[in-house]
Amino acid sequence: MQHLSKLLTRLLIGFFMTATLSTQAADNTVIKSANDQRDYAYSVLDNGFKLLVISDVDAQRAAVSVDVGVGSSAEPDDFPGLAHFLEHMLFLGTDKYPDPDDYINYISDHGGHHNAFTAFDHTNYFFDIDPAYLHQGLQRFSRFFVAPLMAEKYVARERNAVDSEYQSKLREDAWRSMDVFKQAINPKHPYSRFSIGNNRTLPEQTVRPALLAFYKKYYSAERMSAVIIGKEDVNTLMSWGKTLFADVVKRPSSDLHIKEKLFADVSLPIKIKSQSIKNEKNLSLFFQFPYRMDNEYSKSLGYLSHILGYEGKGSLLEALKTQGYASELYSGAGYRIGDEISFEIGVQLTDKGYAHPNNVVAMIFAYLDLLKNDSNGQARYQEIATVAQTAFQFKEKRSAVHEVSGIATRLNRYPVKDVQRLEAIFSGYNAEQIKTYLDKMTADKVVLQFTSPSVSADKKTQYFSVPYEIIKAEPKALTTVADTDKKAVAAMHLPKPNPFIADNYQLQKSTDKTEKHTILTNGIELFFKNDTAFNVPRSSVQISLQPVFDLTVIDKTTMTLLAELLNEQLTTTLYDASIAGLHAEIAAGEKSLAISLQGYQQRMPVLLQAIIKQLNELTVDKPTFARIKANYRQELQNAAAKMPYQQTFPYLNANLVVDASLPSQRLSVLDGINEKTLTDFADKALSQLAVRMLVYGNQTEAEAEQLGNQLADLLANSQLHHQWQPNQARILSKNISQSFSDNHSDSAITYYIQGGKGYAARGAIGVLAKLIEPQFFTRLRTEKQLGYVVFAYPQPTFEQAGIAFTIQSPVADADVLEKHIDEFKQSVIPMLDNLSETDFAAMKTILRSELLQKPENLASAANRYWSDILTTGKTASSRHAIANAIEQLSLADFTRQMRAVLSTGKKVIIKGEAKHSK
Ligand SMILES: [Zn+2]
Repeated sequence: MQHLSKLLTRLLIGFFMTATLSTQAADNTVIKSANDQRDYAYSVLDNGFKLLVISDVDAQRAAVSVDVGVGSSAEPDDFPGLAHFLEHMLFLGTDKYPDPDDYINYISDHGGHHNAFTAFDHTNYFFDIDPAYLHQGLQRFSRFFVAPLMAEKYVARERNAVDSEYQSKLREDAWRSMDVFKQAINPKHPYSRFSIGNNRTLPEQTVRPALLAFYKKYYSAERMSAVIIGKEDVNTLMSWGKTLFADVVKRPSSDLHIKEKLFADVSLPIKIKSQSIKNEKNLSLFFQFPYRMDNEYSKSLGYLSHILGYEGKGSLLEALKTQGYASELYSGAGYRIGDEISFEIGVQLTDKGYAHPNNVVAMIFAYLDLLKNDSNGQARYQEIATVAQTAFQFKEKRSAVHEVSGIATRLNRYPVKDVQRLEAIFSGYNAEQIKTYLDKMTADKVVLQFTSPSVSADKKTQYFSVPYEIIKAEPKALTTVADTDKKAVAAMHLPKPNPFIADNYQLQKSTDKTEKHTILTNGIELFFKNDTAFNVPRSSVQISLQPVFDLTVIDKTTMTLLAELLNEQLTTTLYDASIAGLHAEIAAGEKSLAISLQGYQQRMPVLLQAIIKQLNELTVDKPTFARIKANYRQELQNAAAKMPYQQTFPYLNANLVVDASLPSQRLSVLDGINEKTLTDFADKALSQLAVRMLVYGNQTEAEAEQLGNQLADLLANSQLHHQWQPNQARILSKNISQSFSDNHSDSAITYYIQGGKGYAARGAIGVLAKLIEPQFFTRLRTEKQLGYVVFAYPQPTFEQAGIAFTIQSPVADADVLEKHIDEFKQSVIPMLDNLSETDFAAMKTILRSELLQKPENLASAANRYWSDILTTGKTASSRHAIANAIEQLSLADFTRQMRAVLSTGKKVIIKGEAKHSK
């Protein structure tokens, strides 16, 4: 169960509201997007429990979330991590369903997934499931909040799971820098505490009584909200919810108000330095403001974060890049913490930026001065509001499980009518409110945090052992712009009107053909499909430009640098387009350069022209090239700093995909690549190209061909033809075992077995994975307690079938993990022999329904279509073909094939050896 980091929760800007505001919300109708066809009903039960149901006859998945308005902030001082531990314990048996695996097995046996997370001021639980099994899933889930057992015998076991989770995060920089930040704040503030929990903070002897007391005190119906999405009508869903949640106890109210201030006795400004694992240098500026509910509606902080984080012409980021100080920037309001809300401006620094930190900070304050003296905010605010309101009007479905979890959280904080449209509410430009925020964003109130692997200090944090120091900063030094930066500072200006905002949002149903595959006379292989089923004026244009020669590792590495360079040189254009709802990306694969455009289609030709022009008229300036190369080097080096189990995947991929390259191989050739290598490669690659292109969505056939011809015209100097080559899977001829040293205290393994080729083979392996996934988890994680990361999954490589097992363990080394997996594999054969026709049929049904799930939105429909085109050169759906193959599969054939795969299938075993032996 993941425990959200500050970085992740930054996106969930939503907070508790006062009781008076929530009772004023007499209007119980959810205000929906014009594109939302679902029915809603809302009710507050007699016990105070808030319940929203959403009836969606087209739902591919049913889903439920309960949000509880209490999190780690309410923990007693002597049990850090208790709220998170409770979140884990709720899964492990209830009065009506005492078996600790009952819930998890029921969900996964019916095509679903479950999870939960604990945050500072709330805890969120959720699952999705095949819609036909919603009621039974809900019956199990709802008992968590009525009568969980929290049985003594599982307390010890689950403490280990929490401890493994803690261990798995020890080398994650987001957690490490947050741990250091906590050292700087008021120690009486609950935010200063450790919140994950481990075996020491949750002592076996005393933790259960504390757990029960915490549950009884805070898990009150009044503090809970639920959202249910199902296919049934709202009356049925409402009656299920009412019946099941009516038993949740309403407890005497308890005060969760935090009186402490984050930086109560700290004399600001301060400079915090913390050591990171990854080779990345970051700077964050934090400011604290009193929390105001009305800001959620006026979006004053949202406005400031938009302007500060702007990446177009004249922006702060552009100026920092011009000076060679930074490669990325973000800004935004974070989590509400007590009565305060913090605002962060984060910069990813270059070496030069890290060497001149005060120069960087002074440029940020110079940009803030522009905002303080702005007289044209109203127009910029209106532009942002219009874009947000258009996006709401054409909002597409997201996955049901994300929807319920997000809405349940909001339901605990905002009037029900606003829970869907909150991001589109802009109550008006409030110059005075913006000024009160800007007045607090000054050098004498700032908290600076630097992270870098080069930080060394004697002090270390208690839980993450991060070396750090906290020193007083000098305000004057933070606001003095260096002479060498004055020109760049003078060039900064606030954003101008955005040229990419569309004014035509008409739907275009194709009057002619709705689907086409053709070779244009100019040589481009064009695929087209008109799809207006989602009722949105959006399209997806995918272009793959493939050089016609075999690429060496140097070529591939150079092509990646080329893609990065184009993205970099086009930043201001791409950023404006993305703000206007038109997203473009240039990326390099192993064989081709991919250009992807997604969003409102009206301005696509303009954007496509800008991108190809940049590619054709390629210029490489030294400082930009140096920065791109340094960034890419960092990224390749950081591959070795990822979690050990994540590090196994590139090795596996290199063994399964013909011509795939490893990060370490690319790193070894990177130094030899210079500006000339890049221009030479681009010239050679562009001289002859195989081009495959897809136009999907709200476009007509004529418009698709027009785009194809536009692309050919733009590439007039290239010889185009259509012999585009797909990536290919490697057929293993022998078993492969590889090890790497993972530089972490956990070891890891990915154990892969190859199956046959084609849809039937992939379907059969899919059924096998369904059969063994929960067993693998139960045996190796729950019973043997090998670690927090334990999973089995189908691992197809294009048309080639395969199954894989991955474990990361703080307790066993990789060889031992291999033995456990071997042993598990042996136990699968008797499982196959004992499999009944009924269970087999049920598994087939679940898998088929998963495969046949319709895409949720236009982008995912287009991605599926494109992915099949790239693999097979055809538009036929692989999902349908696999589902059909599964339907034909008999139990006898399945058992015979899977026995063969398990006993003679060729293996690839990748082992990450931990630094310290156990
Ligand atoms: Zn957890």
